[in-house]
Amino acid sequence: MSTSSQHYDVVIVGGGLVGMSLAVALADTPLSILLLEQNQVAPVHANHLDLRTTGLTRSSERVFADAGVWPALLKHATPIERLEISELGAFGCARIDGRRHGISPIGYMLPNHALISELSEQVAHGENITVQSPATLQSMQSQHREVQLQVEQDGRVQTYTTALLVGVDGANSKVRELLHFSVRQKDYGQSAVITNVLPQLPHNNTAYERFTEVGPLAVLPIQKNHCALIWSHASEAVS
Ligand SMILES: Cc1cc2nc3c(=O)[nH]c(=O)nc-3n(C[C@H](O)[C@H](O)[C@H](O)COP(=O)(O)OP(=O)(O)OC[C@H]3O[C@@H](n4cnc5c(N)ncnc54)[C@H](O)[C@@H]3O)c2cc1C
Repeated sequence: MSTSSQHYDVVIVGGGLVGMSLAVALADTPLSILLLEQNQVAPVHANHLDLRTTGLTRSSERVFADAGVWPALLKHATPIERLEISELGAFGCARIDGRRHGISPIGYMLPNHALISELSEQVAHGENITVQSPATLQSMQSQHREVQLQVEQDGRVQTYTTALLVGVDGANSKVRELLHFSVRQKDYGQSAVITNVLPQLPHNNTAYERFTEVGPLAVLPIQKNHCALIWSHASEAVS
């Protein structure tokens, strides 16, 4: 059963890293923001079994600093001071020491669950932001200068209207499907093994990227001297 519609200046569909970051960046603006997420938003949504990590550049740092969330994120960040890039079977390699070039740190590594948790904390405090979760976008219609959205919440259908819809609902985007955006997919025949490891020697804040014929191998520094390992390989070898 449908209830009457509510209007927001911006509706963000998807409360992942990108949706949360956009909501944080729009906090404390005159815009009314609605964030829709099909799963329960953090702290429940911040899955501590999710070992994935994200590398942030210095420009991402500036975006989060402007949004006022960087001090909270910095607690979880591991600075990258050095980069070593090499290719299996090739002679040359690039070694970049951020300190020698006056660009230290080059970037940061952060655990995804910490990113999601801190961003959702900030979103919850944004007075101009309404979070609906679990709430799943089902359908939409474009009207004159606005979009009408039907969203499933608690077994009921709620209708929202907005002048600006932002679809950040992941790789299998419902927004993309409903708007009939065409997609070109290419299977590289590669899969990645993702885990965290504790090397024998300290990582010294060095990020390694090694290119091989079957895909890149990244070893990235994270907290407590652990490293995030992202090992791409031919799919048949990974399964
Ligand atoms: C191992 C690994 C390492 C990575 N490292 C990096 C990195 O270092 N740097 C980097 O930039 N990227 C990295 N990536 C990629 C990065 O994780 C993704 O690009 C990023 O998470 C995408 O975020 P997103 O918010 O767009 O989508 P998602 O994280 O997929 O979030 C989409 C959200 O939308 C919600 N949703 C979906 N459908 C609906 C619907 N119909 N209604 C409501 N909500 C819906 C989902 O529940 C989800 O929460 C990495 C990926 C992996 C796997």
